[in-house]
Amino acid sequence: MTSEHTLGFDTRAIHAGFSHDPHTGASILPIYQTNAYVFDSCDTAAGRFKLTEPGPIYSRLNNPTVDAVEEKIASLEGGVGALMTSSGAAAIVLTLLTIGQQGDNIVASGSLYGGSHAMLANSLPRYGIETRFVDDPADPAQWQQLADERTVAFFGETIPNPKNDIFDIESIATVAHNIGVPLIVDNTVATPYLTRPIEWGADIVVHSVTKYLAGHGNSMVGAVVDAGTFDWSADPDRFRQFAQPDPSYHGLVYSQLGKEAFIVKARVQILRDFGFCAAPVNAFLSTIGIETLSLRMQRHSDSARAVAEFLENHDLVDSVSYPTLKSSPYKTLQEKYCPKGASGIVTFDIKGGRDVGERFVEALTIFQNVANLGDVRSLVSHPASTTHSQSNEAELHAAGVGPGTIRLSIGLEDVSDIIDDLSQALQAAAQ
Ligand SMILES: *Cc1c(COP(=O)(O)O)cnc(C)c1O
Repeated sequence: MTSEHTLGFDTRAIHAGFSHDPHTGASILPIYQTNAYVFDSCDTAAGRFKLTEPGPIYSRLNNPTVDAVEEKIASLEGGVGALMTSSGAAAIVLTLLTIGQQGDNIVASGSLYGGSHAMLANSLPRYGIETRFVDDPADPAQWQQLADERTVAFFGETIPNPKNDIFDIESIATVAHNIGVPLIVDNTVATPYLTRPIEWGADIVVHSVTKYLAGHGNSMVGAVVDAGTFDWSADPDRFRQFAQPDPSYHGLVYSQLGKEAFIVKARVQILRDFGFCAAPVNAFLSTIGIETLSLRMQRHSDSARAVAEFLENHDLVDSVSYPTLKSSPYKTLQEKYCPKGASGIVTFDIKGGRDVGERFVEALTIFQNVANLGDVRSLVSHPASTTHSQSNEAELHAAGVGPGTIRLSIGLEDVSDIIDDLSQALQAAAQ
């Protein structure tokens, strides 16, 4: 679709990346459930391997179903290209391995998804990539202080949960760019419907498509979007992986590829070698989900706001974190970055701590107690015993998780039924 970027967001959510199948006329994206692609000749095969001829080689690198969804996600986030992965975790590790190597470091917000925190704090250091966590992510000076000549990226999440402390993308992007490093933003919870980090200065956006983009709790997928804004050639000592020739492509120097340097390297080198590619059927389920993204995100956000207001006025509730509440310290940031709403995650602390919290979770009937978020179904979880169970006291505090903290992912059911369920479960927990 040539006029894609002049079309509105909702039109692109439906039409970007695919109009119809040229071979059969099928109007819905076919699932190309194939590993390989017949080469017309040995010359064609050789050209594809050398990257001199476009076209698919092997589904670890490219697949027509996945390609179409990548183009749609790139269009919605406003990037020059995107790449889908087998999960959100894979999207993050692929991004970091594309940029950093042994001896490098990342400066990251301390308020992150538990799995990302564990990857950065424990797993990547075993391969020589260290992370320095910022205590107060809203303070640009702390980011500046933690960075040095081996820092290769800043990393934060638009709407981290359970704290719902909206990330000040514009301020932190400015610090990153002054130092000469890219800002990577995990936009899973906000989605490009609520905010587009690239418009605020982010250089790379990552997603757990598993959550709101796919939206129906039925497929594990990730995505990486390249804004095309970062100049990887400006500092060859810092970005050695971009400056040094890649022997596996006859000495290709990625920084010479211009604005697509990052996303090309991510695919042809890291995805090729490490292999965390998206399954075509999961890419298909993602695109069906994305077609209704705007409608779903507005409803998730509106219902979550109503739930947050209900909880805030309830006797058994100690405190509620939701960015649109007057009591939220992040309301100003919400109004700036997510004026249409603040997504579907509501966190609260129940009076009485862990036991009462567990009774509450077990008394719910509509909410499912699962380790997931961003489903059409309403979900509940107890972070201290699940997503954040590997964190120590200080890390729990930084992430805003207490023993009685409950995380809700508000679904698309009737909001009156959602609130009735919460109300009866609070009563049951109190007894
Ligand atoms: C779930 C999640 C991830 C990890 O994604 P998976 O698809 O589960 O691998 C990363 N970031 C955030 C914000 C998440 O919620």
